[in-house]
Amino acid sequence: MESEHGFWYDYKFHTLIEMLEKYGESSSKATDICIAREYNVEGNRYYYIINKAKFISFYRDEFAPHMYEIVTDKSAIYIDLEYDRQQCYVNWDEIGIRIIIHQLKKFFLRKFHFLKEENIFYLTLDASNAKKFSFHIVMRFLLTEHELMFPNNFDSLKKYMFQFREHLIQFTYNEVNDDAKHLVKYTKNVDVNLENKYFQHLSWNYFCQGVEEAAIPLIERTFIDWKVYSKNRNFRLYQSSKFGDPTRILNFVPKLSKLRFSHRCIVKIYEFSFISKPFSKQCKNIPADVEVLSMNKTCLNDTTIVAVNKCKILEFDYDDLSEQHRKKLESISVLIQNLAVRKGLNIDYNITNMSKLSNNIYCINVLEKYCLIEKKYNSSNRVYFIYNVNTSIVRFKCFKCGKNQFFDIKI
Ligand SMILES: [Zn+2]
Repeated sequence: MESEHGFWYDYKFHTLIEMLEKYGESSSKATDICIAREYNVEGNRYYYIINKAKFISFYRDEFAPHMYEIVTDKSAIYIDLEYDRQQCYVNWDEIGIRIIIHQLKKFFLRKFHFLKEENIFYLTLDASNAKKFSFHIVMRFLLTEHELMFPNNFDSLKKYMFQFREHLIQFTYNEVNDDAKHLVKYTKNVDVNLENKYFQHLSWNYFCQGVEEAAIPLIERTFIDWKVYSKNRNFRLYQSSKFGDPTRILNFVPKLSKLRFSHRCIVKIYEFSFISKPFSKQCKNIPADVEVLSMNKTCLNDTTIVAVNKCKILEFDYDDLSEQHRKKLESISVLIQNLAVRKGLNIDYNITNMSKLSNNIYCINVLEKYCLIEKKYNSSNRVYFIYNVNTSIVRFKCFKCGKNQFFDIKI
């Protein structure tokens, strides 16, 4: 292939380290890209440095050349969505992708006040087949004069993506609406209701008791691969496939993309898809956010996630209550329903669900999202009550206010 085209690359290396050393010395980093190419089914690769424009004109004519971009320099936002269809299923993949794109936009618009919705563009690529669900999303912030990029993917972007992960977990396990079911993967041949109850229990532990381990199954349950934000990441190129699997080529999905050029312009799609190179001529760094400088402890690292085994589905006893517990819960229910009225508010805390968390502790969920701590309605986060049968206190809590804030009501 190389002889047919002449030397399509500028430099070729047998190891990644050699390539990175050479690239580090390069004075044309803005126009050079780093590429890896698989040459056998074991996934062994050669590494190349090549001028971007030269590469694109070569690559357009190649069929499934098993190529990867090595993410160096800066970084656009990228997301790898995947799951094994033989083990799991998701309620309507396409809706799930749309929700993730929507939540990404919402998250970054809230984070960066200088950003507007019309500045956000994204490209979706699909390499799925009957066995595997596999999508890539590349998102860019293109302002009129310039593009905003993250200074790198393994530190700067990663911190934001881990915050987004927290945002998504909150969204998935707190929202009352129906969208959550499109973001989670369900295990095949397992009772959905049982699985949902189990994850509800874990999310309660995570948000209310700060149990870090609970985050792991919650994170694993979304179909996003959170391990891709690492140094020198190889990210498969648009129209490439893995060496041993030539059918799974990353194809462009127009209906899940928003680009400011024609969908037929292949060269522009290539340019847009290079994560570590800006799409615009002018490029500025995303400003550092003091909030994300220190990773808080709820941001579990990838090693932790890999190390923990998948949890078993647990069964719960909801109805197995003693006479004493049942009576106490009945009187507490009346108290909660009338609580807001007693405080002069025109709302009823209608109880939607009651669950047993440990021997004497119950969680009581209500429909109304009025927060007694902040004294206002939450737009999406639920509020709930914790009742310990052995004490004479009902504790009000709120997912928006978080696990450290509460409001105790003496009975
Ligand atoms: Zn609140």
